[in-house]
Amino acid sequence: MTTPQWVKDLKPAAPQGSELLEQERSKSKINVDTLSAFLHSREGLARKRRVLKILENDKVFNKEQNYFAGRIDRFETALARAKKLRQLVIRHGWDNDDRMVANELISEPGPYGLHESMFLITLRDQGSPEQHERFLKQAEKYKYIGCYAQTELGHGSNVRGLETTATWNTEDQTFTIDSPTLTASKWWIGSLGRTANHAVVMAQLIINGKSHGPHPFVVQIRDMSTHEPLKDIHIGDIGPKFGYNTMDNGFLLFNKVKVPHISMLARHSRVDPKTNKYVKPSSPSLVFGTLTWVRSTIVMQAGGVLARGVTIATRYCAFQDRDAPSDAGGENQVLNYTTVQIRLLPLLATTFALHFTGKAMMALYGASQKKMSQDVGKVGGPERGAGPEETHSGSDLLADLHATSCGLKSLASYTAVEGLEVCRRACGGHGYSSFSGIGSWYADYLPTATWEGDNYMLTQQVARYLLKSARSVLKGNEPSNDTTAILANFLARQDQGAAFDVLGNDADIVAAYAWRSAFLTFEALKHRDEQKKAWNDLLVDFYRLSRAHSQYMVVKNFYETLQSPPSDLDPETLGVLHKLFRLYALHTLESEASEFYTSSAVTVRQIQLARTSAVMKLLQDIRPHAVRLVDSWDFPDWQLDSSLGRYDGKVYEDMFHRASELNPLNRITVDPYPDSPTLFKKNEAGALKPKL
Ligand SMILES: Cc1cc2nc3c(=O)[nH]c(=O)nc-3n(C[C@H](O)[C@H](O)[C@H](O)COP(=O)(O)OP(=O)(O)OC[C@H]3O[C@@H](n4cnc5c(N)ncnc54)[C@H](O)[C@@H]3O)c2cc1C
Repeated sequence: MTTPQWVKDLKPAAPQGSELLEQERSKSKINVDTLSAFLHSREGLARKRRVLKILENDKVFNKEQNYFAGRIDRFETALARAKKLRQLVIRHGWDNDDRMVANELISEPGPYGLHESMFLITLRDQGSPEQHERFLKQAEKYKYIGCYAQTELGHGSNVRGLETTATWNTEDQTFTIDSPTLTASKWWIGSLGRTANHAVVMAQLIINGKSHGPHPFVVQIRDMSTHEPLKDIHIGDIGPKFGYNTMDNGFLLFNKVKVPHISMLARHSRVDPKTNKYVKPSSPSLVFGTLTWVRSTIVMQAGGVLARGVTIATRYCAFQDRDAPSDAGGENQVLNYTTVQIRLLPLLATTFALHFTGKAMMALYGASQKKMSQDVGKVGGPERGAGPEETHSGSDLLADLHATSCGLKSLASYTAVEGLEVCRRACGGHGYSSFSGIGSWYADYLPTATWEGDNYMLTQQVARYLLKSARSVLKGNEPSNDTTAILANFLARQDQGAAFDVLGNDADIVAAYAWRSAFLTFEALKHRDEQKKAWNDLLVDFYRLSRAHSQYMVVKNFYETLQSPPSDLDPETLGVLHKLFRLYALHTLESEASEFYTSSAVTVRQIQLARTSAVMKLLQDIRPHAVRLVDSWDFPDWQLDSSLGRYDGKVYEDMFHRASELNPLNRITVDPYPDSPTLFKKNEAGALKPKL
């Protein structure tokens, strides 16, 4: 089917989307350029422009068929893109940041995804110098293409329960990797299904019949020239998923496969081949470094992930509601409905809140790495024999980092996931079209709520840390960080009660969040230590506690960021950012009203006023700036790949173009009659298949 010229000549009925967005932008004086630079830095913006120019001019990265292609075509294209990207990295001398920006712009998981992340990171962090020489060098050259195989068909979060074994053979100094049951099959492993030739396999280390828990082993799984699985190894793709279908998540089974001694990654623990004894990690805390880093980056990215959905929905909702009732003059912009504002504008505020928190999270990570490397240099190194939850004053920063990254990973990815669906629905029926650009983005992001620590399970780590901090404060120990300081402050002031002016004073808003977190901590401690409640009976309280404490951190980070803004940020833009701070904080406060009230952080009257007056007024004040605020996130159209979120507002033209001209189904003529065995009379769909 070709689109006739008379159809191509048709225009949307007035007003045009481009005019509406132009009007929107003229209503606000937000300085988009300065605000973008505040969010991303000038260097970051320039990098994006430079990389984008190269990608959008390369036919392999043409996105036109992304929403139409089936699983195999999508995987094939993703593989072509992954290979091309690697070639571009070499040709243009791109550094890691350039490559990550390219991935963000391409915006789909690719078959090298796990090679470039967990495989390389694990080799680097857990390999000895000899193993770096042997494995890492090959991996960095993409000769070894790897994956990270931890999860099994029957075991995920409970890593101790993994069934895959690595048994030490004293006679020939090898390990035998084995999958003794079907549930021991590795499952979900990214890049494994069709792409990887090596895997880091987490397996129970067994020496002389004794298990020493899961350890990482580098195992070759496919032949280096034929790429077929090696003998006694069964590998495959696990099949279609809710999203992430450009990635070959795989399964992997071993039938007693022997690997050499060097296969066990030995930076932290190893088997001594002379004594056949297990050598424990000298510093177990270092083993947790990789996970903390991955969680911290999830926190860093969450604001931007959500901002894509908010950008699309905000631009589209600036459109006229053509079905508006006559008492609204027959037309109204969708974004003027307060029921749309209450869904989108607090999310817009949340994008900034999460972004500033992500920056603070990375700063905390950097500081702790620096401190750790200083401590490692000292005699004795960091505290021995303690995991992150058990560490004491010497490793306070590490314990704080661990809890912060767990709590914020859980809150930030939960908020982004939930928020994207809100954005999709705010777009009405068109939000359900793939062309909205929200659905596939949402589906690909969803597993973030589960991997690197399931969002519910992680909250137990936060609660454990807070309980431990509370015990320390009760013993009269001096506060050593912000967490113990807010707990100590609560203890000192609880008899006087709180009197926070949350409606009039921003610092008091932060104090009210701190108060609620401290109150819930001591409540949980009472249940645990005095009433001796079972751990499982407290999990719901722990979840709430972690959420409350993480929301406190988000509010605090947002507040503190605005206390020292960059000098070139004009007063008008800064003023709107302050309003966004209040909107995020007060909207969250009234959504979690029961906890703020029961902790006496605020009164019922204050909650009523927050909802009926303060939040509604903030919506009104922020509304004119909404489009410019999302513009400052600086998503190129090429990245958004959305009809609804186009910068120029040509929504209907773009929807029609994609449906009528890019849609391969329209190149098929069917035989509709039930008595005819013919299904397709004509099939020219293949003509639209991209040339790779
Ligand atoms: C798209 C995708 C890609 C992935 N890629 C990889 C990869 O490359 N490599 C890899 O090794 N893995 C990978 N995974 C697996 C992922 O890491 C696991 O799914 C995750 O660790 C959760 O484990 P699980 O699926 O067994 O769920 P479970 O841990 O079984 O959790 C199921 C439910 O039980 C609850 N629960 C479990 N234990 C507890 C507890 N102790 N207390 C309270 N509640 C509990 C959880 O909250 C959850 O609701 C991937 C997963 C997905 C979806």
